[in-house]
Amino acid sequence: MWALRSLLRSVAGRAMSQGPARRQRPPKDPLRHLRTREKRGPSWGPGGPNTVYLQVVAAGDRDAGAALYVFSEYNRYLFNCGEGVQRLMQEHKLKVARLDNIFLTRMHWSNVGGLCGMILTLKETGLPKCVLSGPPQLEKYIEAIKIFSGPLKGIELAVRPHSAPEYKDETMTVHQVPIYSEQRCGKHRLSTSPERPLGSLSPEQSSDSGSTENEQHLPDGNGININRKRDGRDPSLVVAFVCKLHVKKGNFLVLKAKDMGLPVGTAAIAPIIAAVKDGKSIIYEGKEILPEELCTPPDPGVAFIVVECPDEGFIQPICENATFKRYQGKDDTPVALVVHIAPESVLLDSRYQQWMERFGPDTQHLILNENCASVHNLRSHKIQTQLNLIHPDIFPLLTSSQSKEEGPTLCVPTVQGECLLKYQLRPRREWQRDTVITCNPDEFIAEALELTNFQESVQEYRRNMQSSPVPAEKKSQYPEIIFLGTGSAIPMKIRNVSSTLVNLSPDKALLLDCGEGTFGQLCRHYGDQVDRVLGTLAAVFVSHLHADHHTGLLNILLQRERALVSLGKPFHPLLVVAPTQLRAWLQQYHNQCQEVLHHVSMIPAKCLQKGAEVNNPTVEKLIRLLLKACDLEEFQTCLVRHCKHAFGCALVHTSGWKVVYSGDTMPCEALVQMGKDATLLIHEATLEDGLEEEAVEKTHSTTSQAIGVGMRMNAEFIMLNHFSQRYAKIPLFSPDFNEKVGIAFDHMKVHFGDFPTIPKLIPPLKALFADDIEEMVERREKRELRLVRAALLSQDGESQQKRAHTEELQSPQSKKVRAW
Ligand SMILES: [Zn+2]
Ligand SMILES: [Zn+2]
Repeated sequence: MWALRSLLRSVAGRAMSQGPARRQRPPKDPLRHLRTREKRGPSWGPGGPNTVYLQVVAAGDRDAGAALYVFSEYNRYLFNCGEGVQRLMQEHKLKVARLDNIFLTRMHWSNVGGLCGMILTLKETGLPKCVLSGPPQLEKYIEAIKIFSGPLKGIELAVRPHSAPEYKDETMTVHQVPIYSEQRCGKHRLSTSPERPLGSLSPEQSSDSGSTENEQHLPDGNGININRKRDGRDPSLVVAFVCKLHVKKGNFLVLKAKDMGLPVGTAAIAPIIAAVKDGKSIIYEGKEILPEELCTPPDPGVAFIVVECPDEGFIQPICENATFKRYQGKDDTPVALVVHIAPESVLLDSRYQQWMERFGPDTQHLILNENCASVHNLRSHKIQTQLNLIHPDIFPLLTSSQSKEEGPTLCVPTVQGECLLKYQLRPRREWQRDTVITCNPDEFIAEALELTNFQESVQEYRRNMQSSPVPAEKKSQYPEIIFLGTGSAIPMKIRNVSSTLVNLSPDKALLLDCGEGTFGQLCRHYGDQVDRVLGTLAAVFVSHLHADHHTGLLNILLQRERALVSLGKPFHPLLVVAPTQLRAWLQQYHNQCQEVLHHVSMIPAKCLQKGAEVNNPTVEKLIRLLLKACDLEEFQTCLVRHCKHAFGCALVHTSGWKVVYSGDTMPCEALVQMGKDATLLIHEATLEDGLEEEAVEKTHSTTSQAIGVGMRMNAEFIMLNHFSQRYAKIPLFSPDFNEKVGIAFDHMKVHFGDFPTIPKLIPPLKALFADDIEEMVERREKRELRLVRAALLSQDGESQQKRAHTEELQSPQSKKVRAW
């Protein structure tokens, strides 16, 4: 029994370890996608898809903006792509490989915040083209992403603005419906187009102008040109999507046709099949045969609608919209489902409720909003529950939003969104709950307790600790370091990307980097306390402009403003220490999406380098403010060895402690000098020992290199983080590990007093992740064997050796992916 379980576990572990590390797979044929499409090219026309379902990726809770995945055997679509959506799709195995259409309902962070990461990932999967539909500002937004992503070679990105003709593929026809808020005034007025002056159009014209006949006949590119004039931020615009499935023709009943004496198996049957499938009667040997005698009934082309109503200002325009009215009448295609991305306040409005009811009793309604309590990041909850068994303070339990009060009672069939909830449109229209996530902590605990040696090693470590208690003077509560994201490159189910919160005192905090999903991590860590924490945030340090270090910043800025309002605290800009290039990205986002520039007081990271001359009185003032706001004696930066404009930093507190953060870097002498005698060094250790060449190629450090830097710095303690996602749960240990080194996990909470404890946690950690470690060791051994073989072959000459080396570099593991 035990052997079987262990076998199953190791198989499961294998499957898992293959999951996230897409680098391990052989490189994909970049044209594969195109070829498949060509193969099935002309055949899709008459068929219509057999299987179509919608699935909730994110239910619209505070830490997961609403997003929807739509699947057919031909196509995959995503509706909205907020921060963390890609991470959820990875965790729940919703394939991005054929995701060539993304629909966005508006230019707001909760809808577009995850787009940068998603595009980079789609590019890596070899997807040749992705089309983004929605507000015309998307075009500029893509340009803005290129500020930090580079030119995005290899993937063609196209924007299909709402004024473009309807879109049609193998599965459905999609019609974009622009909706303009009544509140197109005040401070946003300047950004609206002169073509659409406020109030000069009737509601019908202004709310449905994108669907006029003549625009539908415009060739593809023209829609984009029309909208050129409408560049610039426009918070009054949302775009709804009406999606009509193609009719699925009935199946030809071969046996019945045989019985009736039809020429089955000969060429003469083809026109007969075509006719009856088209619903036409045929005359065969003078006898009329009706289509229903030879075919199963066709499946009608039902529609579904995705509509966002962000606030009350959009209610009237939605209610009066002519396109929607057509679908509420009897004439047009029946609507199977309406997906409402709308806050509770909108759903409570009687006008909106009446509009919902007008679709009739046969239409289902799916609600995605802040009231949808659903665990999304299941694996994160699981690992934290298990780590918590090892040390309850260092690995605190995550909070999960409790189910809130029932939404308003409506006269129409309404369902609240939950992560992975499905509505199937074909073959049968029905809700499917079998995939919906249930989070059962008792199960996670039981699983951990069953592991060989786990309980024993936890007890052993506790006995150890009792015999050497931590001295009282070390037990100070501040600073408190909370690792929010400890993985590199791409947000994954177990490790999110870079971010570390430093709580300097009860009312002062600072973030070291701010990768995608940082706000979500804060929510899961602090629950209802998250606003209080945002209220204490005094500064953010952005080490460099790789997406895994800064794309969570905008949400922190936006959520902090909301938090300050709800706390009744005065608003003041957040101090951001960053490479100056960050400003261009913020400016573009500000121009195209939401106003953010007033949220930031930026201090160029280079101005905090030792000996830097700051001739700008504003920056000087901001630096003084920074030190005061964080109670710091010194905030120093230095250039590190990574990409251009990459920095590390050292913080010296007025009470004497010193925390040093490496950002991403190869072993760096400047960092060693700046960090001399640090109390704590937080250093990246992206790769395991033995991968030094890959580390150089990617300008990162190996475990032992990171430890070496800490030792030369004479750091009192070293925490390693920024692990390659191939080490999903735990990195490989190196012989250089000593009593001064710890491994960071997401949500780990560390005080200086924990330094003696942390290395002692390693045996229980090794027991908890034994299978994963075994797997990684196996991989390492195989790699070493390959190298030995290559070395032996090299006796034939240097050229051979060179080739072996190249092979190693080109092995799937080291396949060059996103810069991180
Ligand atoms: Zn990185
Ligand atoms: Zn980087």
